[in-house]
Amino acid sequence: MADHALRLAGIGSTIFAEMSALAVRTGSVNLGQGFPDEDGPDAVLEAAVAAVRGGRNQYPPGHGTPELIDAVIAHQARHYGLDLDRSQVVATTGATEAIAGALLGLVDPGDEVVVLEPYYDSYVAMIQMVGAVRRPVTLRAPGFRLDLDELAAAITQRTRLILLNSPHNPTGAVLTRDELEGVAALAIEHDLVVVTDEVYEHLTFGTPHIPLATLPGMAERTLTISSAGKSFSVTGWKVGWASGPSPLVAAVEGAKNWLSYSSGAPLQPAVALALNEHDDFHRALAQQLGAKRDALCAGLEALGMTVYRPDGTYFATTDVSSYGYPDGQAFCRALPGIAGVVAIPSQVFYDDLEEGRHLVRWAFCKKSEVISEGLDRLAAADLHAR
Ligand code: GLN
Repeated sequence: MADHALRLAGIGSTIFAEMSALAVRTGSVNLGQGFPDEDGPDAVLEAAVAAVRGGRNQYPPGHGTPELIDAVIAHQARHYGLDLDRSQVVATTGATEAIAGALLGLVDPGDEVVVLEPYYDSYVAMIQMVGAVRRPVTLRAPGFRLDLDELAAAITQRTRLILLNSPHNPTGAVLTRDELEGVAALAIEHDLVVVTDEVYEHLTFGTPHIPLATLPGMAERTLTISSAGKSFSVTGWKVGWASGPSPLVAAVEGAKNWLSYSSGAPLQPAVALALNEHDDFHRALAQQLGAKRDALCAGLEALGMTVYRPDGTYFATTDVSSYGYPDGQAFCRALPGIAGVVAIPSQVFYDDLEEGRHLVRWAFCKKSEVISEGLDRLAAADLHAR
């Protein structure tokens, strides 16, 4: 009896869930999976409670609750000067469903998808599930900059779209205007759609996030994805959205109608409130995260690791080759036992294993005392392979 379809081969579970389970099992400080240990704005939480109490508990429209759609339109206009109408935004079950909907709705079996490596794991899973082929372009340490020649070389006759992520998980790189202009020129030259995952749009540390859709000629070929999870510290709410040209948004909606149809009835109006009235929350969050980044990076550096400081997201990458493990997976599997700390081996996000072999990702979206405890435990342990 076949117990799973070929389309799932090799993509069984996510490293994040696996490492969080390991943290719970071993009582470790979890600097692995990226979720904050503090809640979003009180008023937003209260708005969700009020929506539950107020009877907003049945299916919202598949397209999204009008308040949320309007709030996304207002957000894109206020922050980025983008001009959208209601046919140009669709609400999704987190950015995850928007990514799935984009790949299912826009890519055919055998098509190629150009993707930045290290990649977010759901891209690989969905590219495989649609029967497409991934063409990674590697961001290399120390700077994790995008090499536009490598991007150009990855584009072929079969390329259907470029899937971009900035601010970038796991490296924390924020694409510069020059890099984005290079992407835009190639997309226009080859008449490609670009899907950009911007879930960390508000979490940068002094480096501005530039949506690709704001570049000349790009609004008409860019599908922008984001969600409330990171900006408002509600990762479990899974309220996301995709925006861009109506036909691209309709393609996402065409697929998402058959994934969830709709979700988060009482959460959508609460996220609308967050988007409309709580810019102050993510501004303060980015400030706090900047300080936490500095503390975590300084602590890891003091341990002798090579640290790559991120410009955005809530992840820092280190090179752990000096500890003598065969790779980052072996290091991360040993770490709970020797230090009581969990981190993520970045090599699982690479096709080019050599590039990622010794890279480990540490999350700093945790309370300061949790980060300090993690660093104290690391400092007290002998991290070398025995
Ligand atoms: N995006 C989060 C991370 O990178 C985790 C999301 C998930 O668990 N799928 O850690």
